[in-house]
Amino acid sequence: MCARSFSTHHLLGIDSYKQVKHSTLRIQRKPLVMKFARIVLGLSLTSLCSPGLADDKKPPYHGTIFINGDIVTEKDESVFERLEAKGTDKRRMFDRRVDKFIENEPFLFDAYYSDGLKIEIQVNSEFESSDKAAVIAEEYAKEYGRLPKCLRVNVRTSWIHPGKQLFGGGNENLLVHVEQTAEYRKQRILEETLIHEATHTSLDPIYTRHPDWVKAQQSDPTAISTYAKDHPNREDLAETFLLWFAIRHRRDRLTAEQIETIEKSIPARLAFFDGLQLNLSPLVK
Ligand SMILES: [Zn+2]
Repeated sequence: MCARSFSTHHLLGIDSYKQVKHSTLRIQRKPLVMKFARIVLGLSLTSLCSPGLADDKKPPYHGTIFINGDIVTEKDESVFERLEAKGTDKRRMFDRRVDKFIENEPFLFDAYYSDGLKIEIQVNSEFESSDKAAVIAEEYAKEYGRLPKCLRVNVRTSWIHPGKQLFGGGNENLLVHVEQTAEYRKQRILEETLIHEATHTSLDPIYTRHPDWVKAQQSDPTAISTYAKDHPNREDLAETFLLWFAIRHRRDRLTAEQIETIEKSIPARLAFFDGLQLNLSPLVK
């Protein structure tokens, strides 16, 4: 996902993150015609969590969502307040099962949060009944309520589909395929994954090309992950935000080795996020 996806160039992007295969799909859409898709595949699970040296220019991790499932958990507070059913209506939704935008008539719900934000949850019509759709919508609405406000602020909608496909961020949206959720829960990284994706949605458009961020990228010994290093304009911010949050606000949930590795690898990036004074409520009061 990159900031250009939100420009007037009509580019749209879907970011994704997966456990066994690291797969990223990016779609560039010109007016009227879908143009470009790229898939990066590759990393085995066994290689995802092994730390390396910060000073050898090799990132210490392969993907940051995998290194600690306790950064945010289902025990953390959600500011989700209530769901309002709006019936069904036509919507354009990206669906990874067909790798393109589809026209659907999803079940629609507005999710309200106690900090004043609202997300329209669009549940694919394949779920058939409004009762079933409401249960699904509420499950995700509650999860989104654990996202800090700074990551929820640009999330206007959420697309929810059947199937086991990667989550995605960007497009003022969070994309979910519900069977993938079980996998993330099993790995205890559902919340960490949503933080990564919502960083794409809410922070990438503002900061991914910010001169201070670029300066931080250039001055650090290395990037925090291979995924970040391989996609500096698209993944570095999302890869880094999660561990910046962890080290500043969930330090007691990290190991001493993780703390040392992060601090040695990306001091300038950590300082960049320190300077933003982001609203991290409800995770930080
Ligand atoms: Zn990403």
